[in-house]
Amino acid sequence: MKAVLFRKHGGPEVLEYTDFPTPEPKPGEALIRLHAAALNRMDVMVRNGWPGLKLEMPHINGADGAGEVVALSGALAETKRGDGTNELQIGDHVVINANLGCGTCEFCLVEKDNMCLQWHLLGETVRGTYAEYVSLPVKQLYRLPKDFDFHQAAAAALVYQTAWHSLVKRGNLQKDEAVLIVGAGGGVNTASVQIAKWIGAQVVVVGSDAKKLEMAESIGADILIDRSKEADWSKAVFLATNKRGVDVVVDNVGTTFMQSLRALRKGGRLLTVGNSGGPKFEIDNRYMFAKHLSILGSTMSTLSEFKEVMGLIVAGQLKPVIDQTYPLKEAAIAQERLWRNENFGKITLDIH
Ligand SMILES: [Zn+2]
Repeated sequence: MKAVLFRKHGGPEVLEYTDFPTPEPKPGEALIRLHAAALNRMDVMVRNGWPGLKLEMPHINGADGAGEVVALSGALAETKRGDGTNELQIGDHVVINANLGCGTCEFCLVEKDNMCLQWHLLGETVRGTYAEYVSLPVKQLYRLPKDFDFHQAAAAALVYQTAWHSLVKRGNLQKDEAVLIVGAGGGVNTASVQIAKWIGAQVVVVGSDAKKLEMAESIGADILIDRSKEADWSKAVFLATNKRGVDVVVDNVGTTFMQSLRALRKGGRLLTVGNSGGPKFEIDNRYMFAKHLSILGSTMSTLSEFKEVMGLIVAGQLKPVIDQTYPLKEAAIAQERLWRNENFGKITLDIH
C-alpha cells in the first residue's frame, strides 16, 4: 500500500510518501480501505518527537480516518449482521475512533476506556491513518450511512468526541449558561462552538484573527472578542456578559489560564483538553478558592460517547468544518498549514 511515513523524528522533510506492507487483520479486527484521513496537531508533535517517546519505526501519523471495510478476521467474517456478535460486514462504510482502550483493565471494564491503564492513541503510539489501509478492532469502528461523506466523518471523529466529553460529560454545560472558547480556529474549538450552541448556551469566542472570528460567528458564536485589540480580554468578556462573567471556559491553550480564570463567574468551570501554548505556566491560586473555581481536564471520550456524538454528526445536527483537503502525498504541506495555525476547522487528506 501507499503510506506517508517517517523513519526518524524531525520537520516536514522527514515525511516520505512510499510503499509499506498492507496490515493483516488480527483476531477481532477489520481491514479498512481508507478514503479520508484528518490531521491533528498531535500528528506534528509525534513527527517532531519528544523525550521519552518510543515508536516502532517507521511510524505512520494519523488518528482520524474513514473508509470501507474490505476484510474481517476469520471468525468475524463468518458472522452475519444482527446475530449479536458482529455488526460489521465487508463493504460497510466506517469512521475510526482513535481512542484505543485495552478492554480489560479496571477503567475499560466500567466503560471509561479513555482512562485505560494501557491506553493507546492511533497514530501516536501505534501506526495511524496516513495510509491506504489500516486494521483495527471492530469496537473502534462506527458504521456510517452509505451516502455520508468520508471527509466529514474523518474530520469529526477525534475533535467532536473530545469536545463532547469535555463540554457535556465533564463540564455539564447547561442551556442557560455562557461559555467562553479561547481560540477561534482549531478543530476542538470549532466543535466546541457547535456543541455549545446545540446545547443552547451563549457562546463567547476570543481570537486574534478577524477572519477566523467571522467564521466562528458563522457557525454560531454569539459574542466575538478580538484579543489583538483587547490586551486584557478577561475584562472584555466580563463587560460583554453584563458584568457576570462566564460559567464555563474551554481553554486548550494553557498559557491563557489566568485570563480564563478571571473571566469565570464564581463557581465556574475551566475545561482543558490540551496546551497549544505550552505545558508549563503559572496561575494565581487565590482565584481558585476565592471564586470557588474548578479546573476539569480530560482527553478523548468513551466508546459510548463516541457513538452518541457521531450519531449527531450523521444526523446533520453537528457539521464539521473542513478547512482544506490535500492528496495523501502532500501530507507534509498539509501539516505545515496546520502547524502555522492557518486553518479554520479541519484539514483532511484524500486517500482513494
Ligand atoms: Zn483498559
